[in-house]
Amino acid sequence: MKLNTSPQKPALNWLPLSVFVISGLLTLFAVPYYALTHGFDGWQIAAMIIGIIFCEISITAGYHRLWSHRAYEAHWLVRLFFAIGGTYAVQNTILHWSSDHRIHHRHVDNNDKDPYSAKRGFWYSHMGWMIRDYDLNPNKEFENCKDLKKDPIVMFQHKHYLPLVLSINFGIPILLGLWHGDLIGMMLLAGVARLTISHHLTFFINSLAHVWGSQPYSDKNTSRDNPLIALLTFGEGYHNYHHSFQRDYRNALRWWQYDPTKWLIRSLYFVGLAKNLYRTPLEYIEIERAQMLLKNTTSKLSRRFQSEALIQRLHEEYDMLINNINEFARVKRQWMEARKSSMIEAYDLEALNEKVETLKANFLEQKKNWLNFNARVAMA
Ligand SMILES: [Zn+2]
Ligand SMILES: [Zn+2]
Repeated sequence: MKLNTSPQKPALNWLPLSVFVISGLLTLFAVPYYALTHGFDGWQIAAMIIGIIFCEISITAGYHRLWSHRAYEAHWLVRLFFAIGGTYAVQNTILHWSSDHRIHHRHVDNNDKDPYSAKRGFWYSHMGWMIRDYDLNPNKEFENCKDLKKDPIVMFQHKHYLPLVLSINFGIPILLGLWHGDLIGMMLLAGVARLTISHHLTFFINSLAHVWGSQPYSDKNTSRDNPLIALLTFGEGYHNYHHSFQRDYRNALRWWQYDPTKWLIRSLYFVGLAKNLYRTPLEYIEIERAQMLLKNTTSKLSRRFQSEALIQRLHEEYDMLINNINEFARVKRQWMEARKSSMIEAYDLEALNEKVETLKANFLEQKKNWLNFNARVAMA
C-alpha cells in the first residue's frame, strides 16, 4: 500500500471563497455582457470609480496606516468614514485585519507565522491565504491589538460586521440604482465590479509589492519599492520603505512620488482632523539606504578582479557619510532637547539651530560624494 505523505490541505473557507468566486465571475462575464446589451452611462461608471477610491483609501489610510500602524491619530469622524469604507471593501473587520497585518510585519516571509508570506508564492500571498483555513494568527482574542479594542468604532464594526457588510454592500448600490433608474446596471458596476477591482488592487500590496521592484532600504525581507504598484495601490507600492519604517505615515518620501494616502493624511492634518503624524527621523532613513548601497556595491566589486583598493575607498566614503550623519543627529537631538527647556536663551537656541543646519548641509554634501562614487564604480 502506498502511503500518502503529502500534508493534508486545510479546509476551505467557504464564505470568502464564494464571495471571491461569485464577484469575480460576475465581473468577468455579466459586466461585459450587460455593457454590450444595455450599456452603462457616466453616472454608473463614476459610482464605480468613486466606490473603488472609497474602499481603497479606507484600507490604506484607515485599516493600514491608522489602525495597524498607529502612524497618526484621527478624529472620530475620519475613523467612522474609514470604518464604513473598509466595510464596503469587504476585507474583514479592522481588528482582524490589523491583527493579521501586525503579525505580517513581525514575522515577514516566515512561512509558518506570516499570515500572507510571499515566500509561499504569489497566489498564496494574493488570495490563497484567505481561501483555506491556514489559521496562522495565534492571537485568538486579538491580544496584539489591545490598543484598538479601546476604539468604540473598531469594536462596533467588529461586533456587527456581518449585518453591516451586507447592508452597506447591498444598500449603497441599491440606493444608487433606485436614484439612477437602472438598478441592475448600478448593482453590477457600483456593487460587483467595484468590489472585485478594489479587492485585487489591495491584494497586490501583499503579493506584487513583495515580488516586483527594487530594495533600496533592505534585502532582509521580500518587500519591494515600485512606483507602478504605488499607482494601483494609492501609494502603498513603496513597500520596501514601509517594511523598514512601518510607523511612518508616509510610504513615499519625495513630494513627486505618488502617495495619495499620505496626501490625504496630511490634508486631514491641515484641517485639524488628524494629529501626531509620525515621520521617521531623516538620519535613520539615510543610514539604512547607505548600508544597503554599501552592501550592493561591495558585492558587485568583489566579483571583479583586483578591486580591493576600490572596496577600501568605498568603505572610507561610507564611514565619512555615517560620521557626518551621526554628528548631525547628535546636535539635532541637543537642539530638540534645548527647545523644550526654558533655561536656554533665544540666541543660544538660534546658534544651535544654525549648527544643525550646517551639519545637515555637510552630510548632504557627503551624501552626494557617496552616491557619485557608487555610480562611478558601478559604471566602471
Ligand atoms: Zn508587506
Ligand atoms: Zn504595513
